[in-house]
Amino acid sequence: SEKKMPSLIQSTCAYCGVGCGVDIVVADGKATSLTGSADHPANYGKLCVKGSNLLNTIDLTNRLLAPEIDGKKVSWQQATNYVAEKFSDIIKEHGKDAVAFYVSGQLLTEDYYLANKLMKGYIGSGNIDTNSRLCMSSAVSAYKRAFGEDVVPCTYQDLEQTDLLLLIGSNAAWTHPVLYQRIERAKKINPLMKVVVLDPRKTATCELADNFIQLKPGSDGAFFNGLLNYLSENGGLDADYIAKNTEGFTETLAQATTWSVAKVAEYCHVSEQELTLVYQLFCQSKKAITFYSMGINQSSSGVDKCQSIINCHLASGKMAKTGCGPFSITGQPNAMGGREVGGLANQLAAHMDIDNPAHQDKVQRFWQSPTIATKQGAKAIDMFDKIASGEIKAVWIMATNPMVSLPDRDKIAAALKKCQLVVVSDCVDENDTLAFADVKLPATPWLEKNGTVTNSERRISRQRNAVLPAGQAKHDWQIIRDVAQAMGFSGFDFADVSDVFKEHAQLTHFENNGERLLDLSGLSQLTAQEYHELTPIQWPVNEQYPQGCDRVYADGQFNTASGKAQFIAVSPQLPKQRTSEQFPFVLNSGRIRDQWHTMTRTGKTSKLVAHTDKPYLYLHPSDAKTLAVVDDDMLNITASTGHAIAHVKLDDKQRAGECFMPIHWNKSFASHANVSALYQSIVDPISGQAECKQGAVALTKK
Ligand code: SF4
Repeated sequence: SEKKMPSLIQSTCAYCGVGCGVDIVVADGKATSLTGSADHPANYGKLCVKGSNLLNTIDLTNRLLAPEIDGKKVSWQQATNYVAEKFSDIIKEHGKDAVAFYVSGQLLTEDYYLANKLMKGYIGSGNIDTNSRLCMSSAVSAYKRAFGEDVVPCTYQDLEQTDLLLLIGSNAAWTHPVLYQRIERAKKINPLMKVVVLDPRKTATCELADNFIQLKPGSDGAFFNGLLNYLSENGGLDADYIAKNTEGFTETLAQATTWSVAKVAEYCHVSEQELTLVYQLFCQSKKAITFYSMGINQSSSGVDKCQSIINCHLASGKMAKTGCGPFSITGQPNAMGGREVGGLANQLAAHMDIDNPAHQDKVQRFWQSPTIATKQGAKAIDMFDKIASGEIKAVWIMATNPMVSLPDRDKIAAALKKCQLVVVSDCVDENDTLAFADVKLPATPWLEKNGTVTNSERRISRQRNAVLPAGQAKHDWQIIRDVAQAMGFSGFDFADVSDVFKEHAQLTHFENNGERLLDLSGLSQLTAQEYHELTPIQWPVNEQYPQGCDRVYADGQFNTASGKAQFIAVSPQLPKQRTSEQFPFVLNSGRIRDQWHTMTRTGKTSKLVAHTDKPYLYLHPSDAKTLAVVDDDMLNITASTGHAIAHVKLDDKQRAGECFMPIHWNKSFASHANVSALYQSIVDPISGQAECKQGAVALTKK
């Protein structure tokens, strides 16, 4: 990076799960320009406005550049030893489950791998969870139940080759813009391709829709049970596929048969005609994809909702073929990589199960570790409850801002206040969570970081460092390695990031006799140079698929005990947070086009702030009339958990009685506009994912 001649570094965008490739020109140690990589299979040169503004967000203001203990700058050695000693002391006195890591889909796979190894193999607890819990853990649980493994069975090319695309619970035009552009282009090339959007709001994504179904918030499960029933009554089943490749169909259909079109229409607040039209389309289209995101996953019945989607694809045989399948799209650049290394509290590593003694034994032998976690640890919401109750006494938060992103902000604040030791590694020196940190560890951000990420289509892609770390910042994997070694553990002797990746790849192959699709044996012997030059590749990568694999499960063999995909009967549930006389409005939330998560980066450039310069609450004009407010007025927003203030934006794209608020605003921009203060921490009982789409609030003019 210090070369005189400008050089070109290929990396991957820091933001969403599309995982676009970027070409960065570096001159005199500085990144001078950035464009989309023409040869990256996720984006073929395209970028959205967030990606193309990446270089406008990298200045050193608000950077954490030196370690701190209790607000005083210290050396790395002091900070590392302090964290190691404190963690060791607490473990000694209160046991291994008295400590926890809360990590992030912003971490690279190598960072994630070492954090998971330290917690599960050396400390011996399952207490590592990630902000990906808020993003796609419901999808993970559903894939695991249905296919026996957390495997996304589609690729981006399928989106372009399908006949029918159902987008549900996703405003892809704003949240995954480059995929949206790919769909837009595909539709232009093939005008027969149909796009249907199902959402409580008429979002920007509807511009592409042939049909828009304005579902009642949270009623998605009923829509898909109704579709399954419709397929069965109208010749839409693939009896051969069901018989050969699946189990549990009869019971699942029995559960769905009560969901007539009339009943679904009433339940979902839509007309029978529009419902029938979409059911017909799905039934008659040879190929169909259901593209889903947070609107499905962030629910107290998210796993069942995902399952109801998978059921329809299995039943119609629109599965594991070109242009077919249930396609969950992740929010973060490396949510998928975290899943691969076992970065969720209910996973072990390399897609092995934490509560399976044979898997525990296998991973422990591979790691040659002193111990191994034998039970699930605390999932995100549980973790902060246990911190609040004093059961967990030390937490290390890496690359995430739970004060803004987890529901019930006041509860999270009380937990962090009470916690004996809060360590935060981050690249910024101030945010809502860092305000509670006893120890701050400066981590490298995108552009300085080096490693791999996996996007929503299982594609591993390199995030390369284009410049040197600023100040004393270290890579997350190095910080974790150094703390592990200071705790006296011997399995962390990694000199280079490529060594960490290789070990991860070897573990995916270790005694894996084909029972797990996640097999990176083809990448397990890379030299440092080969790793450096690694081009984007979809797993599995092994003897059978040396160039990676775009089509999984084409042979109808799944990773379940019987080798068959599992239907699971679903009984649709409405959201647990309900409106009442006291809280009469349904609160929906999500991203806006130009901001990312808690705005610590995208909030830095006026180009991105300009799109939505204030925290707004989007309100139906008839509600505005009742509340006697007009555009830009200030509103008090009150829920059972807390309070927020935002400006009114009139918006007739949702029903009266429903409102929408972006998730992004944090303490630096508008501490009063934090949407997480307004949601209760109610979770899906299987995935632990929180219901962050349907809250209940009262609105009054301020
Ligand atoms: Fe980055 Fe996602 Fe935009 Fe691609 S679509 S440039 S990955 S934010």
